[in-house]
Amino acid sequence: MKKEIKEEVVPCEICGHPVIHNEYGLYQDCPQCGWRRGGDNVELERQWGVSYPMLVSLSHAREQYRQGLPFKADFDEFVRGLLFYSEMLFDYQGETYEAYLYRDKEFEPYKFVFCCAEFLQEYVSEQEFREKANIQGKRLKDIWDQVQEPRYM
Ligand SMILES: [Zn+2]
Repeated sequence: MKKEIKEEVVPCEICGHPVIHNEYGLYQDCPQCGWRRGGDNVELERQWGVSYPMLVSLSHAREQYRQGLPFKADFDEFVRGLLFYSEMLFDYQGETYEAYLYRDKEFEPYKFVFCCAEFLQEYVSEQEFREKANIQGKRLKDIWDQVQEPRYM
């Protein structure tokens, strides 16, 4: 006989719509607002300033939902996601771009790499990455409004 999976209904942490949570810790994607919940997003925001797997932090996502905006991580959340997860992606004008941390003994603790099919940029600190990472001379932080789907790899 197949074992039945125990389920309970809990409110979506963004909009309050009922979603199913099962005994393995999995949450249903919210049919109301589209939020996806992995684990403890309150703790993730406290420690890292992000959520998983949506990236945008819980409090920022609630604000976006209230304003009727789609969920999207800002540049700061993207950088914190990079520190948390080490490999990130986003799309810009039809191309996919990648940022990752490269561990190297000569550059403790790691280098920040930003790349796509056409180029690879390396930065030795988070601050330098924030200030200088660019696409054809346009700084990431300045074009973030046009960046789409910043996400974990
Ligand atoms: Zn929801």
